[in-house]
Amino acid sequence: EAAEVLAQGEMTALARQHLVQPWPVAGEIGAEARGGIRSGEGIYVIDGEGRKLIDGPAGMWCVNAGHRRKELADVLYEQAMELSYNSPWYTMNEPSVTLSARLAGHAPGDLSHVFYTTGGSSAVETALRFMQFANNVRGRPEKKLIVSRQGGYHGSTYLSASLNGRPRDHDWMDSASDQVIKLTCPNPFRRPAGMDEAQFCDMLVEEFRDVIANRGAERIGAFIAEPVMASGGVIVPPYGYLSRMRALCSENDILFIADEVVTAFGRLGSVFASQEVFGIEPDMITFAKGVTSGYFPLGGVMISAQLLEDLRRSNHSEAMFAHGLTYSSHPIGCAVALKNLDILEGGLLAHARDVSDYFQSSLKRLEELPLVGEVRGLGLMACIECVADRVSNNPLTLDLEVGKRIDAHCQELGLLVRPLINMCVMSPPLTIERPQIDTMTDILHTSI
Ligand code: PLP
Repeated sequence: EAAEVLAQGEMTALARQHLVQPWPVAGEIGAEARGGIRSGEGIYVIDGEGRKLIDGPAGMWCVNAGHRRKELADVLYEQAMELSYNSPWYTMNEPSVTLSARLAGHAPGDLSHVFYTTGGSSAVETALRFMQFANNVRGRPEKKLIVSRQGGYHGSTYLSASLNGRPRDHDWMDSASDQVIKLTCPNPFRRPAGMDEAQFCDMLVEEFRDVIANRGAERIGAFIAEPVMASGGVIVPPYGYLSRMRALCSENDILFIADEVVTAFGRLGSVFASQEVFGIEPDMITFAKGVTSGYFPLGGVMISAQLLEDLRRSNHSEAMFAHGLTYSSHPIGCAVALKNLDILEGGLLAHARDVSDYFQSSLKRLEELPLVGEVRGLGLMACIECVADRVSNNPLTLDLEVGKRIDAHCQELGLLVRPLINMCVMSPPLTIERPQIDTMTDILHTSI
């Protein structure tokens, strides 16, 4: 009903009275009102003032199939009318079982089983608790330390947030820091002066080897990594890094958890990127976001058959993994995910692969601007990093709101970007076409 649509000013006023948005600063909690969005269509969103903007970040890296897809909306409705909910404790539903089999078909190695969650943080939390449980059951209760990386992002629940590697995210927050070891961010752009990329890779692998030697393999339970670091600024690690880290994990019985919350479901052109793009077989993969293209909150953990077999054969086969969520295996989420997989397999994965080189080379043009230190990325994820000058590549003497200022200019010209301090992250819906990529780059060029 048109009469029920709030005017932009009213929406802002109501938000200020009643809404707390993520990542608020103390002085503004409950008083912010960022970015009213009314509707979406394809790669576009319409903001509160009626402006049509290219959705540069695809929401939060999630609207992979694009906005307002009738076939996804229809499945939501139809599944709600068929079965809107069942207890995952005592019963199961067909969409979750069918989806598990299809995901296992796409997953690398022997990742045959799925534990469903409500999103990415709960998926990471589940994977970590499963590691702790498995090591208790296997008689290794000391083997619990978790290795993550500076610059990584894994979520906002207590343990998942403790892994996050951006220092400012910990400034005012408590964390389980005694359980976590953080390695150097594998960012080739920020490698030590005088080192080439291969030497940098050696340094990163040696650092992990040293940590294992110093802390003891018998105390380290898991290594967790985003194959391409997303919120840390789209960091593509040096060639060979992930497979060498995987090998170190295997040698030391450390579980390798690939956090594919962003990289799965087409962002890098495949359903899962670990094997198809990087040639590695993790012990667990966490996923969320693009699994439903953001039409329903859903996440999950793929778990290796070998790990489950070890538990079944252990001396403590009676031990219980006391972990579950009311909305695990949600029938609506799983039904939407099945339809979303149809869309991906039915041409969207191929399209993403087809346009990704064009996307990367189009954005690369921005490196001709003096403010741009590097444009980097893979598939349909990219980052434009601004620097004070191209000799030092130093971001710190810049106006650190530069990302926000670029975003504001871009919005005036019809593009939404995700500002991250001195960086702008781009990860549009996978349905984007070449002319729309040109428009995106032109707007960024003018705005920067
Ligand atoms: N892991 C990665 C790699 C992410 O990028 C995110 C969110 O951005 C998460 C985990 C947390 O997911 P969620 O926000 O759905 O809890």
